[in-house]
Amino acid sequence: MRCPFCKEDHDRVVDSRSSDAGRIIRRRRQCLACKKRFTTYEKIGESFKLCVVKKDNSRVPYDRDKIIGGLQKACYKRPISAEQIQQIADKAEEDIFRNFDKEVSSTFVGESVMKHLRDVDKVAYIRFASVYRDFEDAGELIEEVSQAIQETEYIGQPKLFDT
Ligand SMILES: [Zn+2]
Repeated sequence: MRCPFCKEDHDRVVDSRSSDAGRIIRRRRQCLACKKRFTTYEKIGESFKLCVVKKDNSRVPYDRDKIIGGLQKACYKRPISAEQIQQIADKAEEDIFRNFDKEVSSTFVGESVMKHLRDVDKVAYIRFASVYRDFEDAGELIEEVSQAIQETEYIGQPKLFDT
């Protein structure tokens, strides 16, 4: 991004936030030449070109709809509104856009979504995790499920297999 003060094209991202349901990303940048800070607004689909690096090293354009699609599947028949799904995606995007502006690993994207989904619904979280996280073995998955059940009972949500 070209610095508005000295016109150099070397900067680092200091902070990023998304707004308008993740459609617009506001970035604070610092010019590495003159050290001045400036703000840019990027609209997804125009100048915004974040790549997701998959495990096989192939790259695909970042696509919020894929996150939403994954969440919808995980939240099937769970008491989670469309608005909550959007909010989870917003929070995950905050994590993603704050840390990366060119490339992000698919693992980081998956983990960010899981982290915020876990706060909302443990069943949906387990469903999501079983698809996106490569559990080493069944033992690891069971451990994760047991942990989620304990927390679910503790906060008095519906029981895990009670769907
Ligand atoms: Zn500058």
